[in-house]
Amino acid sequence: MIKDNILQVQAQMDAASRRAGRAPEDVALIAVTKTNPVQRLQEAYEAGSRDFGENKVQEMLEKMEQLPQDIRWHMIGHLQRNKVKYIVGRVYLIHSVDSLRLAQEISRESVKRKVISDILIEVNVAAEDSKFGTSEQEALELVEAVAGLPGIRIKGLMTIAPFVENPEENRVYFRNLKQLSVDIMSKNIDNVFMDVLSMGMTGDYQVAIEEGATYVRVGTGIFGARDYSVSK
Ligand SMILES: *Cc1c(COP(=O)(O)O)cnc(C)c1O
Repeated sequence: MIKDNILQVQAQMDAASRRAGRAPEDVALIAVTKTNPVQRLQEAYEAGSRDFGENKVQEMLEKMEQLPQDIRWHMIGHLQRNKVKYIVGRVYLIHSVDSLRLAQEISRESVKRKVISDILIEVNVAAEDSKFGTSEQEALELVEAVAGLPGIRIKGLMTIAPFVENPEENRVYFRNLKQLSVDIMSKNIDNVFMDVLSMGMTGDYQVAIEEGATYVRVGTGIFGARDYSVSK
């Protein structure tokens, strides 16, 4: 069933890419595994998934230990500075950098461990009070400040769009994030790449791909509804 869901999501992703005149291989699927037990991650792994997204450090570390080494782990949730030391050097990409202080901590830890950490800047495109992320207006300033830190590479931008019934409502936010990444790219800042756009979830990933997403983060669409009562 997990395998069928993955195949179905991938088919929808391919279709969305083609509609937008994009190459399907330019968009990757992150299976958002939070709250799911390891056995279900193993199932997704066997179906071919290698990119897994988690939003809690402790849960991610526990799962890492029990699963194959070739999984690329994506930290997609709000990250506290005191947890940074546990994931630097172990995660593939940190999607949720929303402050200079957090970036400084990642930098410090990365230098200490002699690694380069790839990060995305999280942007609160719809300016929702309930969401983390820098504002669209302050994003460039944050990118410029973070770009100067050692041990960090800014790969692009991430956003969590509002929860909506009709995904078309989020199209404008995805379009704005893409435009913001183009604007930032045009500044030619050292150490800033902007080739990654992490946007789109189960309800709106197809629209996000049409607007330029390079990673979509899909949980429910692969694993079904989450049971928070069993999660830690
Ligand atoms: C949980 C989560 C997702 C996946 O959401 P679904 O609607 O289940 O696809 C994507 N991104 C982030 C940051 C999340 O926390």
